[in-house]
Amino acid sequence: MFRRLLAPLAIATLLLGCAPANTPFRTNATQAGEAFAGTVSAADPRAEAAGMAILQRGGSATDAAIATMLALTVVEPQSSGIGGGGFLVRGTADGTVETFDGRETAPAGATPDWFLNEDGSLPPFRESVMSGLSVGVPGNIALAKLAHERHGKLPWATLFEPAIRLARDGFRINPRLNNALSSRSERAGFSAEAKALFFDMKGDPHPVGHLVKNEALAQTLEDIARGGPRTFYTGSRAATLAKTVARATPRDGAMTLADITGYRAKPRDAICGSYRAHRICSMGPPTSGGVAVLQILGMLERFDLAASGIENPATWHLFLEAQRLAYADRELYLADRDFVSVPVAGLIDRDYLARRSALIDPGRRMATVAAGQPANAPMALADGNEPPERGTSHFAVVDGTNTMISYTSTIEGAFGSGLMTGGFYLNNELTDFSRAPEVSGRLVANRIEGGKRPRSSMSPAIVYDPQGRPLLVVGAAGGGTIPVQTARSIIGVVDFGLTADRALGMPFLMAFGDRVLVEQGTWLEAAKPQFEALGHTRLFARPAPVKANAILRRNGIWDSARDPRIEAQLELP
Ligand code: GLU
Repeated sequence: MFRRLLAPLAIATLLLGCAPANTPFRTNATQAGEAFAGTVSAADPRAEAAGMAILQRGGSATDAAIATMLALTVVEPQSSGIGGGGFLVRGTADGTVETFDGRETAPAGATPDWFLNEDGSLPPFRESVMSGLSVGVPGNIALAKLAHERHGKLPWATLFEPAIRLARDGFRINPRLNNALSSRSERAGFSAEAKALFFDMKGDPHPVGHLVKNEALAQTLEDIARGGPRTFYTGSRAATLAKTVARATPRDGAMTLADITGYRAKPRDAICGSYRAHRICSMGPPTSGGVAVLQILGMLERFDLAASGIENPATWHLFLEAQRLAYADRELYLADRDFVSVPVAGLIDRDYLARRSALIDPGRRMATVAAGQPANAPMALADGNEPPERGTSHFAVVDGTNTMISYTSTIEGAFGSGLMTGGFYLNNELTDFSRAPEVSGRLVANRIEGGKRPRSSMSPAIVYDPQGRPLLVVGAAGGGTIPVQTARSIIGVVDFGLTADRALGMPFLMAFGDRVLVEQGTWLEAAKPQFEALGHTRLFARPAPVKANAILRRNGIWDSARDPRIEAQLELP
């Protein structure tokens, strides 16, 4: 496969022309007796190479993660980038964990009826997306700056070099991008700027292998490299960004220069829990992802999954039931805690999770599932109505000091809002709010408000082994499936002792309300009768909408893995 043929070292050398020929990337210093530079896992090998090149030059894991995020802006424009936001979790070998919130914010002028028609009804989802209404103030550059100020080793400008080179010299369209351009051509080509980049004169998407040179993005990145985040959040670039969004916003309260200038990335407290003596840390609100992962694992802890077995429907029945309970809580309680009270401690409290877990019947699907009553739960909230999404990129870095970075970056849906300025797509993150602010007269926690951050599903996570040593860096893209993917990968490693590749490659299943998605063509599909006997009667088989990345330490060696479902779509001719 592509990534196996092109060793990361070769790509790094190609990019920066400076990597020594025989530096071991994937072997740990204690094993090989040589300096361990670190390793990177990302959805695109060219972005991995950008991160590796930075590690090779003595950069920290934080430096490499920033370079990876910037390179993904270029080579995976459909998924993430500087026009969007993200969450970064950093854990050191001594167990210190920090998290940074670079989630997009709603403009100050946004009111709860932001997405509603004048008569209070909801327009079609697509209309809200392809509009200035969906664009939040981008957070990734501010997040990168905050993380770099605290943990960067190389100069800020150096981190931009690989991405600038990719944008200026060009990158080839891979099958994944070509698929996205073809299936989402309306959004991808919504702006004239994007149309000129990715489509031919006839309006067809450029084919696989076509070289895209994105000079506008090269210049944007060069300016931010030179001038720092100020170049992005103030002055003429920010004014153009505000104007682009305002022009596409069909109501008052559109994004202003002041909204952009006022953006701040925020350090947040990590949320941590334990699973079979492993310490799991992830991101708290405004994402629901970390809480959901810890809840799912916490509820499963009383069951011996290893004994139950990996190819056993009874094992995955338990997983489905834990999901259903976690997602019921998420719908009711999770939102930006700077605006609404979110009972985070109560939701991941061991006793609370034990009570929730007691609702799970190993032999029978629960007929109904409702949110629980954790400590300090606010009363009288209504469930939100956010739809599933499909954008985002997760990447993982470990450096030579065994510092782990788990960073998920997104522009929300494929190609975000479709709006573009400066060579990058602008997110549609604000449709991660519940577009309806209230349901049956009760407020939804995740309703839109000025300056608020929309609830996310992203769950960048890190795991320490029972001895407290760094073990796993993992996360995923795929909207509402993200916490399920992350929890599943951790189960694969902790309960079944799988390698990173195999943990990510396990067949996927997820409960969507009453229905259960099982991955097409896997043993899960064949086990339909057994699932039905457990009460899961509404099974449907589909290709799994999943995309995870991970780095796992096994026997003292860090191994980086990409979801095989991504891998299958990368091959260039
Ligand atoms: N915007 C989504 C979130 O923050 C992610 C979108 C996706 O991965 O499809 O949860």
